[in-house]
Amino acid sequence: MAIEEEYGAHNYHPIPVVIAKAKGPWVWDVEGKKYLDCLSAYSAVNQGHLHPKIVQALKDQLENVALTSRAFYNDRMGPYLKHLLEICGKGFDMALPMNTGAEAVETAIKMVRRWGYEIKGVPEGKSEIIVCANNFHGRTTTIVGFSTDPDANTNFGPFTPGFKIIPFNDIKALETAITNNTVAFLCEPIQGEAGVIVPSNGYLKQIREICTRNNVLFVLDEIQTGFCRTGKMFCFQHEGITPDVLTLGKALGGGLLPVSAVVSRKEIMKVFIPGSHGSTFGGFPLACVVGEAALNVLVEEKLDVRAAELGEMFITELKKINHPRIKEVRGKGLLVAVELSEKARPFTEQLIQNGILAKETHDYVIRFAPPLVISKEDLNWALDIIKSILGK
Ligand SMILES: *Cc1c(COP(=O)(O)O)cnc(C)c1O
Repeated sequence: MAIEEEYGAHNYHPIPVVIAKAKGPWVWDVEGKKYLDCLSAYSAVNQGHLHPKIVQALKDQLENVALTSRAFYNDRMGPYLKHLLEICGKGFDMALPMNTGAEAVETAIKMVRRWGYEIKGVPEGKSEIIVCANNFHGRTTTIVGFSTDPDANTNFGPFTPGFKIIPFNDIKALETAITNNTVAFLCEPIQGEAGVIVPSNGYLKQIREICTRNNVLFVLDEIQTGFCRTGKMFCFQHEGITPDVLTLGKALGGGLLPVSAVVSRKEIMKVFIPGSHGSTFGGFPLACVVGEAALNVLVEEKLDVRAAELGEMFITELKKINHPRIKEVRGKGLLVAVELSEKARPFTEQLIQNGILAKETHDYVIRFAPPLVISKEDLNWALDIIKSILGK
């Protein structure tokens, strides 16, 4: 910890636990103390740490080729993207592979702007993208430029223009904000980093309707909510709608590598032509086999059903904690938050002492998002501890 403090930039303030080993939903620190990982690298470890099938796929690929230049084809990317699109379902027929989530969002921004100019007919330089207050879409300069969190963007400007911020979960505000130059509306289906803010039932459906009516692309950032976290493969499936553009990342890398993608329809994706976008590592063979294996595990182990069932139990049990400090228990699937009426830090510290790694967000909220491979027994073990600490 001291060496890292000395030589590493202080852009994080980690909890003083030094993890040296992991397996499934568990991690161990350098002294061998075992913890349940209730943060899951912000949902990048939905399949659990070091899932044997994903690890094996990566090892096997290391006998062949790891990285090629995008100047050539590689034999893994095509089949992987085809499979990814099958998983995304009807309405998605082309994908663009990147590495981090922020890159996927940046890619989507470039794509919808170009679509606006070349297909919708927005006058040059005038495109507008509508986003939501308290969003989290990553850390690049353009993305933090439309963040409403001063911690994320103070003194990093000047920022990219062309973004309009409206309140989350406010359909009227969306209707009012749209102009002839609006190319897209970008949001998360549940605002994870903001403290697991779940919008009203029907919100996504109404967005879909308004976007269609106004010829505005609906870009949904499922980097955190996607891949079974909320009890469905994707959160938008809860409302039976299809966005025009989907940004994916985190669990697409199976807890091993940064793997992200933008998926959409051909008629939108075709605005990218050779030379207009790229990434040295995007779609590299190692990432493709890991992505492929990560998807297989989600399907084979029915992690959507698991997240739905265990999540329902988890939320029901948390709601039983009878203490005035519990303001609200909310979430979907295994993306859960408990909002307290007092500062959460002392409680997360106690949880950690008792073997549960969880972190507070925004002072008053504790997020619980264990790997989806967690067993019912392990979740019950955690529930007993959480109940005794939060209910005392
Ligand atoms: C984590 C996250 C991102 C950014 O992903 P990185 O891989 O950290 O760049 C974007 N959007 C959402 C909703 C996220 O949770």
